[in-house]
Amino acid sequence: MEYKCLRCHGPREPRKKLCDACVPLALEEQKQKSRERATAYRLANLEKVRAIDRKRAAEERAKNPEEVRLRKLKSSKNNLEYFPKYYEAHKDELRKVTSEWKKANPGRVKVNNQKRRAAKKEAAGSVTYAQWEAVCKKQKGKCYDCGRADVKLTMGHGVPLYAGGSHDVSNIIAQCQRCNCKQGKRIHPEFLEKQ
Ligand SMILES: [Zn+2]
Ligand SMILES: [Zn+2]
Repeated sequence: MEYKCLRCHGPREPRKKLCDACVPLALEEQKQKSRERATAYRLANLEKVRAIDRKRAAEERAKNPEEVRLRKLKSSKNNLEYFPKYYEAHKDELRKVTSEWKKANPGRVKVNNQKRRAAKKEAAGSVTYAQWEAVCKKQKGKCYDCGRADVKLTMGHGVPLYAGGSHDVSNIIAQCQRCNCKQGKRIHPEFLEKQ
C-alpha cells in the first residue's frame, strides 16, 4: 500500500502525514493562518491589546534598552521615506545595523532581493523563505540542471519573469549561478515536462 501526503497527495513515509517537501510549506501556511487570526483578534480588541502592548514594550525597554534601540533603528530604516530627517542624522549607524543583519541572514537577503526584483516586473506571486528552503530540500541541495551539490543555489524561474512567469513557488527552481545564466530569458526546456 502506498502512503499519500495529505497536502499534495504525493508519496510519503508511512509514519508521517506529509511528504518531506510539504512539511515546511504546511508550517508556513499554519503560521499565515495564525497571523490572520491574531490580526482579527487585535482589530476586535484594539484598546485592550494596545494597553498590553504598551506595558510589554516598557518592560522590554527596561530589560534590554540597547536591543530595543537597535530594533527601532532597523525598522525606521525600513520605513525610510517616513523618516528622511531621522535617516540623515543616523545614516552610518543605520547602515551598520542593516549590513550586520544581512551578514547574519544571507538566505533571507536572497529571498528579499528576488521578491523586489519580481515586484519590479509586476510578476504575480511571492516566495517565502520557508518555501525557498523547501525547493532546495526537494532538489536535495542540487542544481536543477547540472545536478551539482557543491555550488551555491540561486533562485531560478521555470518560466522567466521576462516571459511573464510568476514569482510563485510553483515556478521556482534552484539552479547554480552558471545554469541560471545559461537559461537566461528562455523558458526552461524541461521545466514544463517535469511538472
Ligand atoms: Zn506533499
Ligand atoms: Zn548548475
